[in-house]
Amino acid sequence: QARKRFGQNFLTDTGIITRLVRSIAPRADDLMVEIGPGQGALTRPLMDELEHLHAVELDRDLIALLQRTLSERRLTLHQADALRFDFSTLVPEGDTRRLRVVGNLPYNISTPLMFHLISQIHVVQDMHFMLQKEMVDRLVAVPGTSDWGRLSIMIQYHCQTDFLFMVPPESFSPAPKVDSAIVRLVPHQTLPHPVTDYPRFAALVNQVFTQRRKAIRNGLKSFLAPAEIEAAGIDPGLRPEQLSLADFAALGNAAAARASHA
Ligand code: SAM
Repeated sequence: QARKRFGQNFLTDTGIITRLVRSIAPRADDLMVEIGPGQGALTRPLMDELEHLHAVELDRDLIALLQRTLSERRLTLHQADALRFDFSTLVPEGDTRRLRVVGNLPYNISTPLMFHLISQIHVVQDMHFMLQKEMVDRLVAVPGTSDWGRLSIMIQYHCQTDFLFMVPPESFSPAPKVDSAIVRLVPHQTLPHPVTDYPRFAALVNQVFTQRRKAIRNGLKSFLAPAEIEAAGIDPGLRPEQLSLADFAALGNAAAARASHA
């Protein structure tokens, strides 16, 4: 019996599972963690390719089920909330590998989970997720579109994002009400648009998108005056969705410079 409050929709489509595992392309010695293994639909085929797998699952009953059915020698189960889980503890001391993170995520927590993982991005090699299609559209969005927003900017600041393929509701049991899609996130080796004060940059992006239909001079009031926005090379009359990641980084850096002179 699937638990709605845990966002449980189990993958049943073997064609999709095969395609997803092929996209992940596990290598035997990868350091991999699955978030939300559920009944093991993805866990089993991943274990077939790997020497070892970690999995983080919140539901005690599913943990018990997985313990009964899967080889514990090659699987470490963590009964925990992925939103609070310290993923860096999975990297053994002195190990140079970084984590490959995979999961058919519970859609009700996918945005906070994305931000939680970003806060630990230094231990991550790559991430493959099944998500609500609308969320994947936002993760891979480009400036000037309605999908471009806080999520796109904050994730693309850290990662290259790729839409891999769509997954229809019939691929799950029970079938969700929405379309799903697979996304790949790969942390940039060097940040394309580094900022000097990340918390201020994050606050600025957040603030400006609370007034997404207004000119940025309004949303940026507490950070920069219109003349300072112009001095950063950006027209204060533009709306937030018209600005690129580079523009936001420039505004963030201007706001940081202003604050340090104040
Ligand atoms: N991977 C399985 C599959 O594809 O069939 C299950 C996917 S189901 C959409 C999401 C899974 O995440 C469920 O097993 C659910 O219990 C688990 N889950 C929900 N909230 C969680 C949380 N905060 N931390 C860890 N796991 C969670």
